[in-house]
Amino acid sequence: MRTALVTGGGRGIGAAISKKLAEDGYRVLVTYCTSSKPAEMVVDDIRSSSTDAVAVNCDVTDAREVALLATHPWVIEGVDVLVLNHGRYDRIDAKELNLEHLRRTMSTNFEGAFLVWDAVKSNLTTEARICVIGSQLGTRGSPHGADYSASKAALSIWARSLAQSLAPEGKRVNVIAPGFVDTDILAGDSPEKRASREEEVPLKRIGTPEDIAGVVSFLVGEKSSYITGAVIHVNGGLYLP
Ligand code: NDP
Repeated sequence: MRTALVTGGGRGIGAAISKKLAEDGYRVLVTYCTSSKPAEMVVDDIRSSSTDAVAVNCDVTDAREVALLATHPWVIEGVDVLVLNHGRYDRIDAKELNLEHLRRTMSTNFEGAFLVWDAVKSNLTTEARICVIGSQLGTRGSPHGADYSASKAALSIWARSLAQSLAPEGKRVNVIAPGFVDTDILAGDSPEKRASREEEVPLKRIGTPEDIAGVVSFLVGEKSSYITGAVIHVNGGLYLP
């Protein structure tokens, strides 16, 4: 059976991606950092409805935990799809950002993705697909997330470079840059803030985790076989670069 590894696959967008890939026929290795219960629920859901899944604890900022992840039997047997989805967004005014915070964000969002890739790269199958979850802010920037935006910009350009390097081997790498998506990241919004976001989006709604999961499914499938090194903006028309 084909294997997918989804970082941060137990919650929010990652949970929707894990379930969608299971529907597509993959067994799914779901990693979590602090939220074990939601990850176990995703695993139970997949096992009861489609294929097989397992939850593995892995803080992507901890090289030892990432190295341990790479020793999981499903990884050793070969990873067909790697989704680097994990991320943190702490909303700090760009003027207030300090070095400690910048390093924390970069080490999670960017270095963490690199560490996971580096640990599992020798176990990727011949035509493996890699999908990286960036952000519209990685292109636009944000007054409330200079660190987050910079980490997502780095992630995106790293992934596009990797795509160019891996293409001759038949492996494909693509980036999804979501706009507003209804997860815990937006949970602090007041009703007024939510309404103003909906108004701002040309399609007049906040995206769902399933909106992103569907695009992941496309990008790792055969119908996208000529797409690599792309950044796909999934944002309801909010920002069209
Ligand atoms: P959530 O906050 O709901 O989920 C974040 C996920 O990242 C959780 O699964 C969390 O795991 C994991 N994570 C955080 N830190 C670490 C770490 N150190 N090691 C391993 N895993 C970690 O956010 P979303 O689902 O919304 O976000 C998913 C991705 O989509 C992120 O990369 C985010 O930046 C991106 N995105 C989201 C947007 C949105 O509007 N929601 C917009 C644009 C991009 P755990 O809970 O176990 O700690």
